[in-house]
Amino acid sequence: MNSKVFDTSIRYLKGVGEAREKLFNKLGIRTLRDLVEYFPRAYEDRTVFKRINSLVIGEYVCVRAIAAATPKLSHIRKGLDLVKLRVVDDVGSLEITFFNSPFVKDAIKQGESYAFYGKVSGTLLRPEMTNPLFERVQKKGAITGCIVPIYPLTAKLSQKIVSTAVRSALEKCADEFPDVIPNDISKKYNLCRASYAYENIHSPEGFKELDIARRRLIFEELFVLVTAMRLMRDRRTTQTGKYLQARDFKEFYASLSFTPTNAQKRAIDDAAADMIAGKLMNRLIQGDVGSGKTLVAAACCWLTWRSGLQSAFMAPTEILAKQHYKSLTDMLTPFGMSVGLLTGSTTAKGKHEIYEQLRYGEIDLIIGTHALLSEGVEFRNLGLVITDEQHRFGVEQRSMLTEKGDSPHVLVMSATPIPRTLALIIYGDLDVSIIDEMPPGRREIETHVVDERYRERLYKFVRKLVSEGRQVYVICPMVEENDEDLEQESASDANKPKSVTTHHETLSKKVFPDLNVELLHGKMPAKKKDAAMAAFTSGDADILVATTVIEVGVDVPNAALIIVENADRFGLSQLHQLRGRIGRGEFQSFCVLIGEAHERLQIMKSTNDGFKIAEEDLKLRGPGDFFGSRQHGLPVMQIANLMTDMLVLHEAQGAAEKLLETDPSLSLPANRKLKEKIIQLFDTNIDKMN
Ligand code: ADP
Ligand code: MG
Repeated sequence: MNSKVFDTSIRYLKGVGEAREKLFNKLGIRTLRDLVEYFPRAYEDRTVFKRINSLVIGEYVCVRAIAAATPKLSHIRKGLDLVKLRVVDDVGSLEITFFNSPFVKDAIKQGESYAFYGKVSGTLLRPEMTNPLFERVQKKGAITGCIVPIYPLTAKLSQKIVSTAVRSALEKCADEFPDVIPNDISKKYNLCRASYAYENIHSPEGFKELDIARRRLIFEELFVLVTAMRLMRDRRTTQTGKYLQARDFKEFYASLSFTPTNAQKRAIDDAAADMIAGKLMNRLIQGDVGSGKTLVAAACCWLTWRSGLQSAFMAPTEILAKQHYKSLTDMLTPFGMSVGLLTGSTTAKGKHEIYEQLRYGEIDLIIGTHALLSEGVEFRNLGLVITDEQHRFGVEQRSMLTEKGDSPHVLVMSATPIPRTLALIIYGDLDVSIIDEMPPGRREIETHVVDERYRERLYKFVRKLVSEGRQVYVICPMVEENDEDLEQESASDANKPKSVTTHHETLSKKVFPDLNVELLHGKMPAKKKDAAMAAFTSGDADILVATTVIEVGVDVPNAALIIVENADRFGLSQLHQLRGRIGRGEFQSFCVLIGEAHERLQIMKSTNDGFKIAEEDLKLRGPGDFFGSRQHGLPVMQIANLMTDMLVLHEAQGAAEKLLETDPSLSLPANRKLKEKIIQLFDTNIDKMN
């Protein structure tokens, strides 16, 4: 949709005005396009008419009936009026009551036919309806006998206001819906026209029409997305990157304290092959927690340095950045590489020094957080950019870092195993290497799902492990006792979310006063966080009570037990990440999930395969929750569901592939509208496309 009408502000719609415009803006609606693309979240089925003798108590239904008498208005007390009315059809009679709607008295006339829509109450012998919607039978269609859209709302905007605005937007745009799907594809996949689809998604004539409309819109959404991703990818494969000199990795491997797995070697070889060929690398390393992705990153930095170029490695949290700094320093400084660390808590003086060293090429590898995106960061010769846990960074942040160099190679590491089908879309613009093998000698983690009754036994077990020299994580879902979330809970005490600070108090003062119990959460000052993490890493602390700040990447091989409080409050993939914190050393490790939703948690017990868990999680929660909003940097799906619309997705992929074979840059007139749509959707990335 690129015509002018669609870009008109909603302010000019009848009945919208300035105040309402603001409310609509809150819903993300600014233009007519936004309005017509604001799809209902559900529909109310008012198509079913029943005769009075077959009504079912509790159901919502339409009834055609004649007013048996003039409605009777009575003032019960100040602020309470009742209108009572009996209506009949040829088989029964129905009592209707309207509260505080005195106008009904004159609106309904004895002996005339009306259609009512409402919830049936009363008894089967004496059915009733309260405050039903109604209209004259002759007028049928506006209120009864139709399917009514239900829109997601914000306070102060009623269904009526939204649907009226949508209706007038649809009318204004009526003849201008451009079909972004090329004709032959529409034909091949049996898709209705865009105008029909928009009309029927908002005001469906029937459920069949609604299905036809939905199918078209879902197809369109997915088709535009996969075409865009393919375009980016295809364009990239023709781009050249910096040539790196080939090197024998044996030299690098020789300095390690362990032997890389075959899967690690394969991933390293994939990456090296890209960079040595002078192809611009854009590669995703996907591997389950603990599969050893850091080593792949280190090898790539080493290769880059061998060709005299710098590398930058960005992590989503300070804790993780520091940890990478430590392990990469260990692996790389023996070769004479200089490694730097830059985070939000680096002192001004320290930053200044690092900026200088980067500019002069005195630092070969800089590791850091978002701080790497600061203006002061400039490189002498940036050859490689690595981002860890990438779905926490948007595509834009990734490119902000690459723009600091002259098309550096890009390596992305994801710890969230994404079901293959989804990875195809989300990382459609990247090549993928999968590390599907764990380092040897790992023991299977023993996982238990328990409730409060086991707490005492559990604490004994903690003591036993600590006395053997092991360490323990205790994870709580939130920080403060009076968190908003908490107040709304009416949960039983046992299931009440544990505040990390309070729980730390309990454990350190009452349960384990003789042990060293540390606290770690995101809202602590950086210095305290450092101290807590350092105490745990060095083995000084026996127990670390933390929030999910430790979720990504933290690596303390001596930790052999993780206890998750209120485990039912976490997503399965998140639990899997948390569990990934243990079983990293030679010790048998244990994961204890304390929670009520036993059934959902059982999957954690039955498998340790992150892919399987992710798939299960997606089924339960849907991709929206799974990825968080916009975290993956893709447009938010308006109507398609990446899990349930898999079939349409495959069709859309097939169609996109065929189309780009014949018109690789979408320059044919027939594909012009599609191209415009893609540019509109990915507007920040236009330059990345043809
Ligand atoms: P990931 O980032 O994939 O979750 P890490 O790179 O943090 O995993 O590695 C997890 C742990 O396994 C680290 O302690 C690391 O030193 C160790 N490790 C990595 N590769 C190997 C290997 N091939 N053999 C033995 N240990 C390994
Ligand atoms: Mg990692």
